[in-house]
Amino acid sequence: MARGDPLLSGHNYVPWRRVERWTCIRCGLCCRNFLVPLLTHEALKIYKTFGPLIVQVNGKIALAKKPDGSCVFLTYEGGIAKCTIYFERPGVCRLYPFYIKVGAEEGEEDALYVDETGFKYRVYIDTNCPGTYKGPPIEPIIPKVIETWRRFYGWWAMSRR
Ligand code: SF4
Ligand code: SF4
Repeated sequence: MARGDPLLSGHNYVPWRRVERWTCIRCGLCCRNFLVPLLTHEALKIYKTFGPLIVQVNGKIALAKKPDGSCVFLTYEGGIAKCTIYFERPGVCRLYPFYIKVGAEEGEEDALYVDETGFKYRVYIDTNCPGTYKGPPIEPIIPKVIETWRRFYGWWAMSRR
């Protein structure tokens, strides 16, 4: 994997085939611990809909945080994390704890996923997410992860190849 990628800091990404199971246990750890980088159109939408709840960090636009470091949109109900903009949450929130790279790479076969058109991806999962090794088998989840990635980042990633 690319070293120095800011999206990877604070994470422990491993190839998806090395983690048999995953489910979101709604602990909210990701919403408390990580910066949420935004695409330009996401930042504009957040700004227009919810107000100036965006910040610039190291030249990147991200969601603002509360004084305790958690996302401004995080709340808890009965100990369960709840996103108050769930249906409009940014792409990075929808993808976490997964991370996608385009194309195959030697030595990274455990991360390989080939879609229905034969296009190759490398899919990683952050084992710092407490939902790893829990819940249903991970394999049927991967096509949905790829679909989400395509929807939010496909055009952007392809334009940078
Ligand atoms: S850290 Fe993992 S289990 Fe916890 S809310 Fe985030 S995705 Fe769900
Ligand atoms: S926008 Fe929602 S899902 Fe994303 S970090 Fe904030 S509370 Fe969590």
